[in-house]
Amino acid sequence: MIIDKRDICALLDAIGRDEQVYVPGSVAGVTQFVEHEPGVEPLLDVRTTKVPPKELLFPKAERLYRWKTHEGHLSIEQADVASRPFTVFGMRPCDVASVERLDQVFLTKGYVDEFYQARRQAATLVALACERTDPTCFCDSMGGSPTRAPGADVVLRDRGDSYRAQAQTERGQRALDAWRAAAPDAVRDDEPGEAPDAGDDARVTCSLTVDMDGVAQAMPGLYESPMWDDIADTCVTCGTCTFVCPTCYCFDISQDTRAAEGSRYRCWDSCMFVTYTQMAGGHNPRADKAPRVRQRFMHKLSYFFDRYGENLCVGCGRCIADCPAGVDITRVIDRVGAEAAAMRGEVAVDG
Ligand code: SF4
Ligand code: SF4
Repeated sequence: MIIDKRDICALLDAIGRDEQVYVPGSVAGVTQFVEHEPGVEPLLDVRTTKVPPKELLFPKAERLYRWKTHEGHLSIEQADVASRPFTVFGMRPCDVASVERLDQVFLTKGYVDEFYQARRQAATLVALACERTDPTCFCDSMGGSPTRAPGADVVLRDRGDSYRAQAQTERGQRALDAWRAAAPDAVRDDEPGEAPDAGDDARVTCSLTVDMDGVAQAMPGLYESPMWDDIADTCVTCGTCTFVCPTCYCFDISQDTRAAEGSRYRCWDSCMFVTYTQMAGGHNPRADKAPRVRQRFMHKLSYFFDRYGENLCVGCGRCIADCPAGVDITRVIDRVGAEAAAMRGEVAVDG
């Protein structure tokens, strides 16, 4: 299916009549996924939005249940987990890959998070392949690709004045059929004889690269390394890296109590905050910065890999672009490689 760029807004207007559609947009100058408003052009030229789309599946804050006591009896009202169908239109391949990581956390290994599951089952993911990359992108070093998004239902590829849309799942094919029915003037068939595009465009690569070979295996041996103190010296523990990360999923559960009733809710949390591991009795196993910095990288590059066979990083580059202290995960990975080589007696590590 071909969609002329001048017809994108008309298509989104039509899809939006039946379900919510989220597109890259801007709120107070901060790029993020927003609900499409009729007649408003989406920001499809933005590559990674500053705020990742993960909050559409895993909101920043959500109520789990309400409770009330009356004459000594406690009643609990579960939050409604049902979600109406919605489309996320224009996700970059790294963000689609991040959803695959979140699926592993929230839907596998015998544990299903029904809040996440309801939204995930209601979501149609429409990827937009990258026609170029930013200096902070390194998805192809993390097992991804700027031009392929295998976890998406539909993938769009830029053809200059138009996009080509290809379904990758049954849900994606149903979406294309619905688009055709809802906006026949905004879409047209592929040109006769045009072969399916596998997305293997070798011209689109990331200039930033890291060597992940042996990193997960080396990390446990670096648990006591002084490198964590070096990195922590510059980190100001603001938590930005974790809040802009599409794969970070830590949350806290809190209670809002008003007289005899209240709510239990969860909200995003960050392992970079000193209160993250603060216990009720006052003990805190990660009171210092260095163990918190180490935890962030150990989780991304070692613990998650051990559990799921992949890194908890998709190379979107957001944490590199937004860290106020210049902490760069690719330089940490380089350092891990160098430290591991030094431990094997191969080379000396330079600071
Ligand atoms: S964004 Fe940078 S300074 Fe802030 S917590 Fe993360 S690494 Fe530390
Ligand atoms: S760790 Fe950084 S580069 Fe990796 S997915 Fe998270 S924000 Fe993107």
